[in-house]
Amino acid sequence: MKLFNTLTRSLETFEPLDPGGRQVGMYCCGPTVYDYAHIGNWRTFVFADLLRRYLEFRGYTVRHVMNITDVEDKIIRRVQETGLPLREYTVRYETAFFEDFETLRCRRPHHTPRATEHIPEIIELIRRLMDRGIAYQAPDGSVYFSIEKYVAAGGQYGQLARVRLDQLRVGERVRSDEYAKETPVDFALWKARTAEDGDVYWPSPWGEGRPGWHIECSAMSMKWLGPSFDLHLGGEDLIFPHHEDEIAQSEGAGLQQPGRRFVKYWVHGAFLLVEGRKMSKSLGNFFTLRDLLARGFAGREVRYVLLSGHYRETLNFTLEGLQAARGALGRLDECLARLRELAESHTGTASSLSGAEAPVPDLLGPFETAMDEDLNISAAWAAVFEWVRELNRRMAAGTLTPAGAAAALQQWARVDDVLAVGEHSEETAPPEVLQWVEERQAARKARDFARADALRERIRSAGWLVEDTPKGPRLKRLPRTA
Ligand code: AMP
Ligand code: ZN
Repeated sequence: MKLFNTLTRSLETFEPLDPGGRQVGMYCCGPTVYDYAHIGNWRTFVFADLLRRYLEFRGYTVRHVMNITDVEDKIIRRVQETGLPLREYTVRYETAFFEDFETLRCRRPHHTPRATEHIPEIIELIRRLMDRGIAYQAPDGSVYFSIEKYVAAGGQYGQLARVRLDQLRVGERVRSDEYAKETPVDFALWKARTAEDGDVYWPSPWGEGRPGWHIECSAMSMKWLGPSFDLHLGGEDLIFPHHEDEIAQSEGAGLQQPGRRFVKYWVHGAFLLVEGRKMSKSLGNFFTLRDLLARGFAGREVRYVLLSGHYRETLNFTLEGLQAARGALGRLDECLARLRELAESHTGTASSLSGAEAPVPDLLGPFETAMDEDLNISAAWAAVFEWVRELNRRMAAGTLTPAGAAAALQQWARVDDVLAVGEHSEETAPPEVLQWVEERQAARKARDFARADALRERIRSAGWLVEDTPKGPRLKRLPRTA
């Protein structure tokens, strides 16, 4: 399996650090819980979920860690504005985040460490950098990472983001967590307490203060995955300064075995765009998942859209695209429903087949080939829909046996373990609709067609279409209007 490593800017064959070749450590920078995540953020988390699921499909045992950034500049600002205690403020967005996580069918990471619960580990890491002479306390009381000292000690600053070190402004410092690549300067590890921080501070050997954002991820990733691990993920905006600084801090602490890096593969997802611009809070051009659910879309439809393009290519989000997703998933659902019906029937087409049965079209082969190539999701979807077309053709021609249908469903179950867009219980009709279907059956039996029609209408207005098949009534979700 190949992945594009941002560190080397090349496609590399994935080989885990584990000598047994099975265990994989994967860290994805998690949400900053200062507001609801927008679906641009979700693109990155769904991409991380796709990679994790595909690794598991390929037989790896993944240890997936995603941090919760629950203290940094933006959060402090919001806490000040609202006057709420830090935890009280962040908990609501953290809870919402995990609800959305479920709705988008992302597998829960094995560990979701919060920064505020790793202050001792963060302080320990800074202390180590101080001991090694790579960090220093400035006159403002804050502790900074010295790029000059790190480079002098053999560190490779700027490799990930391709920063030009001749532009390094020696001795210049930045306290803010975010700054431009054109100004690689010493960055804050520990920020001395200021009036704006309010109640948000902790004691440390360098006085009261709070951690910088970058050191949080170094401390938490190494705590939960060790000083060297396989995969580090995030959106492309995190390459600089966040990930560049994470490498500097983690490798500057010198905890890795000789010859080992902090992270073997850096994998970054491209942005979700709206009319050509990055979806972001600051541009105000964002949708939260909740906005889309309120418009009647389902989590799996949003997931499908977020997975509709290659992770390294920007993806333009539109509501029309979401409608198209509904159409595509509808075609898939239809095919799967017919396959289930056929697989459950023991008569019918089977007996009408003569001679040797044609093999069921293969889905797993083309799917794996596509995904092995740096998660080529477009080719994977093409394989899925080609398979659907072929199965539909075979079912229409009556040349698929119940056993063939069952085999096809098994293939789909394997593939959907990765894609996770298949029809689930969220698409099951509510109990009252099922009750009306029963009543309608009874009315039909009693030849009370007026009542049967009235019930059909009631079912329709609840968003479901009842179809009468030889095996009894079947419910279909009507497209919800957006
Ligand atoms: P944040 O909560 O701001 O720390 O962001 C969480 C994740 O979302 C990070 O990995 C960002 O890189 C990613 N992200 C932010 N905006 C977008 C976007 N428009 N498209 C894709 N990923 C994004
Ligand atoms: Zn991070």
